[in-house]
Amino acid sequence: MEHRITETLKILTEADKEACEVVKVTEKETAAPATKRLLIESYGCQMNFSDSEIVASVMREAGFATTNSEQEADLIFLNTCAIRDNAEQKVRNRLQQLNFLKKKKPGMLIGVLGCMAERLKAKFLEEEKMVDIVTGPDAYRDLPRLVEEAETGQKGVNVFLSREETYADISPIRLNSNGVTAFISIMRGCDNMCSFCVVPYTRGRERSRDAHSIVQEARDLYRDGYREVTLLGQNVDSYKWSSSDGTEQVNFAQLLEQVALVSPNLRVRFSTSHPKDITDEVLYTIKKYDNICNYIHLPAQSGNSRILALMNRTYDRDWYLQKIDRIRAILGDDCGISHDMIAGFCTETEDEHQDTLSLMEYARYDYGYTFAYSERPGTPAAKKLTDDIPEDIKKRRLNEIIALQQKLSLERNQRAVGRVHKVLVEGTSKRSDEHLQGRNDQNKVVVFPKENFKKGDYAQVLVTECTTATLIGHAVELASITA
Ligand code: SAM
Ligand code: SF4
Repeated sequence: MEHRITETLKILTEADKEACEVVKVTEKETAAPATKRLLIESYGCQMNFSDSEIVASVMREAGFATTNSEQEADLIFLNTCAIRDNAEQKVRNRLQQLNFLKKKKPGMLIGVLGCMAERLKAKFLEEEKMVDIVTGPDAYRDLPRLVEEAETGQKGVNVFLSREETYADISPIRLNSNGVTAFISIMRGCDNMCSFCVVPYTRGRERSRDAHSIVQEARDLYRDGYREVTLLGQNVDSYKWSSSDGTEQVNFAQLLEQVALVSPNLRVRFSTSHPKDITDEVLYTIKKYDNICNYIHLPAQSGNSRILALMNRTYDRDWYLQKIDRIRAILGDDCGISHDMIAGFCTETEDEHQDTLSLMEYARYDYGYTFAYSERPGTPAAKKLTDDIPEDIKKRRLNEIIALQQKLSLERNQRAVGRVHKVLVEGTSKRSDEHLQGRNDQNKVVVFPKENFKKGDYAQVLVTECTTATLIGHAVELASITA
């Protein structure tokens, strides 16, 4: 799943992505009286960032307010990612640093949460002696008890995976928020079993959250001044919720519609779509509502049918290309489309890698997230296939994918030049206080002179130039369109 990207970081290379993976989360809301301080560091996908907001809420009830200072913290949680080996190495390195701190502050506790905790379970406590608490993604309600236990000197572990937990009733505490855009988790887990992927083992079975609680969360966010929500799940298109008496059934297209109806001034995005599940009904719902953004993240992983079969993606090249055609037919050529692509999967030949490049040319992606294949213990690929592509070849293929994507991104951005775009202002540009930055419908970052606009406004911006990552222009109407 992709990350919240910055103005200058659109085509995320593996190294780039690692660089922006770690974000210290700090609480902006007024804290109720709390006696202890918690620092949460989130690694990996948007789902983890969203989960950290649930963790902050659970821990607030237990008397912990969040801080961004490790010196001040009584408790440090690392919310970890296990998707690739280097994501795990990053956590190990951070733990070594925290070990020094802990020696100076003996009462301080360290907890490891999320996918790496789930993957390694109690083994983590043996491998990393400074860790006091290990908690998987479905056990966050148990954190106060585990922390209490750890305060008495016992180590606390809960890696129970649930078939029901969706944290539907927990009101997340927004962390590091710009006050304009927020994530709403709509489902958890994944049943897809892509052969390379550790997620089904670390996040368990797929389950959908009560639709009412999702719509209510969107309403609350809108009331609090937020103007964009991103509905999150590993595979949002397979969202399916039924009320306990079976009288209500909501699929993803219907949920999208319900959230879009909260207000025409609330933008709705979603991530991630699995190509096999995105339906015409979803595409027509996007078309029907102006506030559902014309942007689809549609991971391909490879452009070659043999590799896709080995990956157990359940579609082949032609099927994926037909899906791209369908998106363009219903939503038009301007619909933003991005991808995830893996370079150097087991047994991938040079010709098969070329198929990935030609698929990218066909799809004309706006941007993409690219990875060198990293074997994950316990996955079907690790058990049945050989990770036989040498690292230097993986790297070269990855670089070719990135270079092509840069060319495509520039071409796609050039299409935007000379047109007026509706931009939701997210804040000041990172490069200049005199400029604002926001996103257009297709999720492209737009930078323009501030004038009288402020965060949360919609501005009509005439784009006059672009880079591979950013559209640059100026507002053509002074009146903002905020509600
Ligand atoms: N559920 C989403 C999907 O299917 O697109 C996102 C899953 S994952 C968090 C995000 C991306 O990480 C995947 O789409 C894939 O490209 C990449 N990924 C997953 N496992 C990987 C592995 N073992 N090696 C390299 N990249 C991997
Ligand atoms: Fe992993 Fe595939 Fe599920 Fe995405 S759809 S989380 S890649 S198993």
